[in-house]
Amino acid sequence: RKRIAVLTSGGDSPGMNAAVRAVVRYGIYRDCEVYAVHEGYAGLISDNMKKMSWDDVRGWLSFGGTLIGTARCLEFRDREWRKVGCYNMIKNGIDALIVCGGDGSLTGADFLRNDWPSLVADLKAEGKITAEQAEHHGHLYISGLVGSIDNDMAMTDSTIGAFSSLDRICTNVNWIQATADSHSRAFVIEVMGRHCGWLALMAAISTRADYVFLPELPPKSSSWTEDMNKVVLRHRKAGSRRIIVIVAEGAIDDDLNPIKPEAVKESLDKIGFDTRVTTLGHVQRGGTAVAADRLLATMQGAEAVEAILDATPDTPSPMIGIRENKLVRVSLLEAVKETKAVAAAIERKDFEGARALRDSEFKE
Ligand code: ATP
Repeated sequence: RKRIAVLTSGGDSPGMNAAVRAVVRYGIYRDCEVYAVHEGYAGLISDNMKKMSWDDVRGWLSFGGTLIGTARCLEFRDREWRKVGCYNMIKNGIDALIVCGGDGSLTGADFLRNDWPSLVADLKAEGKITAEQAEHHGHLYISGLVGSIDNDMAMTDSTIGAFSSLDRICTNVNWIQATADSHSRAFVIEVMGRHCGWLALMAAISTRADYVFLPELPPKSSSWTEDMNKVVLRHRKAGSRRIIVIVAEGAIDDDLNPIKPEAVKESLDKIGFDTRVTTLGHVQRGGTAVAADRLLATMQGAEAVEAILDATPDTPSPMIGIRENKLVRVSLLEAVKETKAVAAAIERKDFEGARALRDSEFKE
């Protein structure tokens, strides 16, 4: 009988609770015992884990955030602290771990899995665990779920939380549009997304914004103000009372200078607009999960349990994704590598390369 631990790590996202609920209930259905680890990897280190029953997750499907807590745990990058986590897991009889988080959290899970045999050997040599425990816990089986509002992970079409966040942004932009229309104002709205402009682009399309700045498509440093001004003046001339410009948090120009909402406002003010800046901030993470995220998290949570049950010591660590509406198991390490490659391409000004990497995901 497998004993699976589940944790949420990194930035919270709506749908993480639905994922934990699915792991707990599907795990029980598949005759496993499921433990919830509180506060991300910190909970492995502090032995903050609790066996979950079917009823413990009642009502969790739609709640925003993560009820088992999340944390950034620097100690977990250190092997000695991972050893403490390993010891606590073995003490609780746990032999599998499902992590829901971003690329950092999934990397951490793979590190733990790779280290595991040597950590177990150390614990045995130190007399902290018995030979039987060492033998029984020779391997750690892991499975990754992507919880991220940015939709920034490679090899999956959408991440748990992205559609909820998009929905929140659209609702907020609609509210702003009402006041912008009333006063004939321009609004510059900053949305989340450091290396990935998915939220900004999808929000711009969904709210019929007038202009958008994305990390992957940096405009020329010498002319972006003129280019933007031309477009918004054309829209104003065509009768638009409100002007909406969406700026991704990680928007840059082609010299890698950040495009800040204040600079956009300055440019719009100069051509006669009465401009306000709104940074949406953490409302983008809050609130209940939309149906798309509840479904994604539920299906993927169940699939993460199946991936654990199918795993052998040689199976590469799987990440559960969704592509063309089908659940897929992809290599966690490859997905993290590709995700980092996009950010790296942007940083070395290879914007075409970054876009090609993103596009290739859809062409494969
Ligand atoms: P977000 O997309 O919200 O930033 P994330 O999962 O990428 O989410 P990180 O802060 O990068 O967030 O990682 C979360 C936690 O995962 C870290 O605080 C740490 O505990 C663990 N972690 C990240 N990278 C590693 C690593 N290389 N080795 C061990 N643990 C790691």
